[in-house]
Amino acid sequence: MLRLHPYEYHMPAALDEALSLLSDHGDDAMPIAGGTDLVPNMKHGLFTPGHLVALSRVREMRGITSSPAEIRIGAAETLTSVATHPEVLAAVPSLARAAELVSGPQLRRVGTIGGNVCLDTRCAYYNQTKFWRKALGYCLKKDGDVCHVVKGGTRCVAAHSADTPPVLSVLDAVLEVASPDGKREVPIRRFFTSDGIWNRSIGRSELLVAIRIPRPPDGTRIAFQKLRPRQAIDFPLANLAVRVGLDDDGRVSDFRLVISGMGSYPRRVGRVEDAAVGNRLGPSVIEAVAEQAFRQCHPLANITIDPEWRRAMVPVLVRRALNEIAAA
Ligand SMILES: Cc1cc2nc3c(=O)[nH]c(=O)nc-3n(C[C@H](O)[C@H](O)[C@H](O)COP(=O)(O)OP(=O)(O)OC[C@H]3O[C@@H](n4cnc5c(N)ncnc54)[C@H](O)[C@@H]3O)c2cc1C
Ligand code: SF4
Repeated sequence: MLRLHPYEYHMPAALDEALSLLSDHGDDAMPIAGGTDLVPNMKHGLFTPGHLVALSRVREMRGITSSPAEIRIGAAETLTSVATHPEVLAAVPSLARAAELVSGPQLRRVGTIGGNVCLDTRCAYYNQTKFWRKALGYCLKKDGDVCHVVKGGTRCVAAHSADTPPVLSVLDAVLEVASPDGKREVPIRRFFTSDGIWNRSIGRSELLVAIRIPRPPDGTRIAFQKLRPRQAIDFPLANLAVRVGLDDDGRVSDFRLVISGMGSYPRRVGRVEDAAVGNRLGPSVIEAVAEQAFRQCHPLANITIDPEWRRAMVPVLVRRALNEIAAA
């Protein structure tokens, strides 16, 4: 049986208290939301904090509210609450859909949207027991000095494996981040970095407080697609979100495609808008976008499933998403 190391569990009720605890204990403290990812990782010895700062009672991180301009989701809201909230379903149904496709029902009831956005990257050589990793000589992301995915590589390329960030990216979400020095806003496109060891542009004692989503203009359609071995539970092997804006004439005026599950961050696929903008969303446009996405995506062997098959599935996911939008 995998056991947890001893630690102290703190349950602050306010944001400033949570931030003080994180700052006081420095590298020996970590925030915990639902714990659905952090606890298994602790059992694998990937993190061994002496202090866990629970976020579930922090009032500033709770609640889903809306205004004519935006929807605000507290970081400690569960994925189930995001997936079923009437305002989210009405204004940004694609986000509800992505939240609904995370993991399985039990984990969605405790796992939070904040934990999903701040999810640690994953790798076939990292999400293993300490015994397993030791036998291989560890790796750059934890305890070692080599990468087993890119031989001779000096950077970790573990996979960003969360489902809501691609949709939040095409929605231009803004993240409210707090540290002991104050609050700041980070557009989601600047939140993720290409460093697989720590792929967030926030410090380890900073907290994601809430996510603000501007209401998309009329005529905007968004679709989310996810590839996984078992529909009931698994992490994504690849996922993507497409945003299409249509003008009054039914022609594409805005087009964005964000793909994740391959490298260390959700990536906006370039040049696809050239094929789409100004045209109607018909079979030739869909095929051109699918082909362009295939050319630009090169999955690595950071997940156990064959990278070539994952690459071959990219245009399939793109076609599914665009056909869904075209049929809406
Ligand atoms: C079997 C299994 C299947 C899964 N399948 C999927 C899947 O299909 N798709 C998917 O996206 N995820 C999946 N997950 C991962 C996880 O369940 C979800 O991503 C979930 O949303 C994580 O949220 P949490 O609240 O449990 O995060 P936690 O585990 O509590 O935290 C995750 C990380 O984020 C940090 N953190 C949490 N909240 C904050 C905050 N507000 N500010 C700063 N840092 C914070 C924690 O310190 C930790 O490093 C799966 C997990 C398991 C065990
Ligand atoms: S990509 Fe390389 S360094 Fe990163 S977790 Fe995997 S094996 Fe380790």
